[in-house]
Amino acid sequence: MTQTAEKPIKASEIDPKFKYEVSKMHGGEKIMRCFQCGTCTSDCPVARFSDTYRPRQIIRMAQLGLRERVLNSDTLWLCAACFTCTDRCPQDVEVASVIRVLRNLAAEKGIVPQVFKEEASSILESGYAYRIPELRLKKRETLGLPPLPKGNPQSIGKTLHKIGFLKCVEKKGS
Ligand code: SF4
Ligand code: SF4
Repeated sequence: MTQTAEKPIKASEIDPKFKYEVSKMHGGEKIMRCFQCGTCTSDCPVARFSDTYRPRQIIRMAQLGLRERVLNSDTLWLCAACFTCTDRCPQDVEVASVIRVLRNLAAEKGIVPQVFKEEASSILESGYAYRIPELRLKKRETLGLPPLPKGNPQSIGKTLHKIGFLKCVEKKGS
C-alpha cells in the first residue's frame, strides 16, 4: 500500500459510481454532504501527530471516485475511531463510519496492513491479539501473579470464519 493522495488525478482513475456505492452502506449515507470545510482534519487527534493522515482528504478521494487510490491508501488504517470528526462535522457526515466502510471495502479486496494480519493470526493461535512472551509469563509466576486466562482460539476462529474475516486476511498481501 502507498500514500497516493498527492499524485495528479487521471480521468481513467475516476469511478463515478464509487460515492453511490459508499453511500448505500451503513454509515456512508451522508458522504455527499461534505463541503470540505476541514473541521474533521483540524480536530482529529491522529492528524495532529501525522503529516499524512487527513480525514477530509479521504472523504474527498471517495467523493471523487478515486476507488483504487483511497482503498490502497496506508492512511486509511490510521483512524483511531474516536468519532471526534463525526461529532464535530457541521454537515453531519459520519466521517469515522465512512472510513470504516472504506476499510471494509479494502479488506474485501484483501488490502489489509500486515500488522493487522499478524494480530489476526495471533488471535487465531492464542486468543490474544498480542503474543505474550514466555519470559513475561514466567515473570508473572515469580511475582506470585495468577496465570492469564486461557484464550479460546477455536471459538474465535469459527466466528471469524463465519463473518468472512479470514477470507479477507488470507487474500493478497498488502
Ligand atoms: S467536517 Fe464534515 S463537511 Fe467538513 S470536511 Fe470533514 S466531513 Fe467534510
Ligand atoms: S474517528 Fe478517526 S478520523 Fe475521526 S477524529 Fe478520530 S481518529 Fe480522526
